[in-house]
Amino acid sequence: MPQYDIIIEKDACDGIFACLTRDPRFVEGEDGLATVDPDADPVYDCEGAVTDTDERVVATFDDDRIDEARQAAAACPTDAIVVRVREGDE
Ligand code: SF4
Repeated sequence: MPQYDIIIEKDACDGIFACLTRDPRFVEGEDGLATVDPDADPVYDCEGAVTDTDERVVATFDDDRIDEARQAAAACPTDAIVVRVREGDE
């Protein structure tokens, strides 16, 4: 399974939250912008490491749900989300 990063560039995020409906790991953060919470998914028990700074969110996962993350990225009207497979995987 590929390890992958979900990156949200906060400069680009407008808080429209189209991403939340595509992938339940996306949530509204305290700053009113999108962030990622691996525990937010009501159905799947997923594990991931999340770094949330003023500039960006980087969430790393090692599961089979990259397509959901890609759908969230595709749904984002401002292209704030990047999904990147880790080097050497896939
Ligand atoms: S869809 Fe894009 S702009 Fe909207 S909250 Fe999600 S990341 Fe931010």
